[in-house]
Amino acid sequence: MEDLIIIGGGPAGLTAGLYAARAKLKTLLLERLAPGGQILTTDWVENYPGFPEGVSGYDLVDKMKRQAEKFGLTIESQEVQRLELTAEKKMVFTDSRTIETKALIIASGAAPQKLGIEGEGLFTGKGVSYCATCDGPFFRDQAVAVIGGGDTAVEEAVYLARFASRVYLVHRRDKLRAVQLIQERARSEPKMHFIWDTIAVKIVGDTGVKGLDLKNLKTGEMKHLPVEGVFVFIGYVPNSSLVKGILPLDEWGFIKTDNDMETEIPGVFAAGDVRSKALRQVATAVGEGATAAYMAERFLERVKDNI
Ligand code: NAP
Repeated sequence: MEDLIIIGGGPAGLTAGLYAARAKLKTLLLERLAPGGQILTTDWVENYPGFPEGVSGYDLVDKMKRQAEKFGLTIESQEVQRLELTAEKKMVFTDSRTIETKALIIASGAAPQKLGIEGEGLFTGKGVSYCATCDGPFFRDQAVAVIGGGDTAVEEAVYLARFASRVYLVHRRDKLRAVQLIQERARSEPKMHFIWDTIAVKIVGDTGVKGLDLKNLKTGEMKHLPVEGVFVFIGYVPNSSLVKGILPLDEWGFIKTDNDMETEIPGVFAAGDVRSKALRQVATAVGEGATAAYMAERFLERVKDNI
């Protein structure tokens, strides 16, 4: 039996793992692929304290992983299929085994929201992308469109301007949601072109993307935009399907916790992007991971004579 299982190896899970392993809890971190999470798709992180010059998402998470492993955290690549959670007993069923744990931290993160329009699925990986860091260099000297108006869309659009000949930012309103500093960077980038009050209705192409059919929401006018790449950054959906029907979720599916990261079930915690909250950042994820691990340790102290 494990003292603690952590599901998810992004900044929240790795920080929880660091704290728990350092507190000498028998801790296992389960990650579906390789540790890292969404931060791996972020080119450059410049608002995580301690790195005045900024740091690449890859380097940051690699350092977190090595630091946690130094204190004895065990990380295994296994996909969790199912959970059985009660105050008394917590069972984790992975694709290869069944593990009982005394406490659990869910740090399974979030995944990019899809547009849900014709051509999106067909051309995913063939011109439609949700990761500029991964796919930007494929679009050297080509025109690309970015959908969305939040921090991610605008920041990634500026990044794509390094490679692309033109970057069209298609936003459904006439005002960006992104913070001012990021907006200013985009406005001063000569390759950026803003298309306001407009949604994408169809992605068209043959073996790859050839263009985007757009609709102006104010005038109703339809327009075809020839582009070779379409990058979608319209928010994220939580990876919370494992606990649907087991734990209370908010209206968007994020896991509800108290201020100590504990869910309705004693000994079950959530941290990072999968948790219901206002701000999803590496800085908030690591704080929540640390708190969840500390509260898990206190939970184990409390129940040690009963489990
Ligand atoms: P977000 O802030 O939720 O923005 C999503 C954007 O997509 C909005 O502009 C929204 O339009 C648009 N949108 C949503 N659904 C759409 C649809 N079906 N069709 C067309 N457009 C649609 O998401 P995010 O930019 O990924 O940011 C998520 C969180 O991460 C935020 O808290 C953000 O501050 C943070 N973040 C911070 C940084 C940084 O500090 N450097 C970088 C990246 C992300 P409306 O504006 O009309 O709603």
